[in-house]
Amino acid sequence: NPSRSIINFSAGPSSLPYEVLEIAQRELVAYGETGLSVMEMSHRSATFSKIINNAEQLVRELLNVPVNYSVLFLQGGGNGQFACVPLNLMNLKPKKSADYVLTGYWSERAANEAKKYGAVNLVFPKPEKYSRIPPVQEWNLDPEASYVFVCDNETINGIEFQEDITQALNGVPLVADCSSNLFSRQIDVSKYGLIFAGAQKNFGPSGVTLVIIRNDLIGHAAKECPSIFDYKIQAGNNSLYQTPPTFSIYMCGLVFEWLKKHGGMESIDKVNRMKADAVYEVIDNSNGFYYSPISPKDRSRVTIPFRLCVDGKPNEALEKEFLSEADKKNNLKELKGHRSVGGIRAAIFNAISLEEIETLVFFMKDFQQLAKI
Ligand code: PLP
Repeated sequence: NPSRSIINFSAGPSSLPYEVLEIAQRELVAYGETGLSVMEMSHRSATFSKIINNAEQLVRELLNVPVNYSVLFLQGGGNGQFACVPLNLMNLKPKKSADYVLTGYWSERAANEAKKYGAVNLVFPKPEKYSRIPPVQEWNLDPEASYVFVCDNETINGIEFQEDITQALNGVPLVADCSSNLFSRQIDVSKYGLIFAGAQKNFGPSGVTLVIIRNDLIGHAAKECPSIFDYKIQAGNNSLYQTPPTFSIYMCGLVFEWLKKHGGMESIDKVNRMKADAVYEVIDNSNGFYYSPISPKDRSRVTIPFRLCVDGKPNEALEKEFLSEADKKNNLKELKGHRSVGGIRAAIFNAISLEEIETLVFFMKDFQQLAKI
């Protein structure tokens, strides 16, 4: 990163690749031959059609999206989808009920929203603390459920699904909130009925929500579903039923090009694995100075919460000092954990490089050394 010395660990909106920002800066006032900013041009113009179609094509290519899936660029963010999903899918089976898997803050929010539109079955009771994913064999799954909902990466709690759970689901479609890990790892889209993600962590600015949906799940919306949230209407209009977030879609397209240039999902997956391993290694080799509350097999590779401990207990004063030193002396920004869990959180999405992780890791080791003195 040639002209910015700060490293931004914000969980979202988060950093965008520097090269992408530079391209956007160059094209901001006049895009190509048009003489217009993308922000100013009609969403029905030939130029914007190319931009959105190219973005869709790159999503299909990068994630290997099967042909029987639609790719939609919507608005309303992850929270919008918490309503959109039950409004569109609750009717899939006569029972109008869905299975929800509570693994953290966001799946809990999704389940609460869904209760407005149908029956919600929790496949295991809400745990007192979110620290692991109970094995799928222990879930109380309902074969008559319209869908099974998971949050693939709990951004706040730092819990991520690592295994394919679809064999256990009796053919009930799997719906996944991938807001914080889509495009951070390889994913087999064909295992899912629906995937959604707000762009603002791994692949664009806020304002656009990507939905990838198997076509047979389209066309089942409840009567009261708002038209802009009806997947059938949006798919039938190529995501242009309303004015779409044009600039955000353009930016996503640039990020997709960047991902492709950097080797696509296979190589991004590898780099992200190395980044996460480097941080967990410091945590695990710190003799309890740093502590991860999450069971190792369920640890997130993109959002890493941890605590700083004295005598085996989290110590807020020490954490405050860590954050202040990180920020003021080392330009490591936004490492504070979410208010609901406290402590520290390193969100290490795609735009954070391996070199930047090395800076964090070096600082963590150094801070531990100095704390001993
Ligand atoms: N789901 C997950 C996993 C998230 O991390 C977030 C936001 O951070 C949301 C949903 C909510 O997204 P939005 O703020 O776009 O509604």
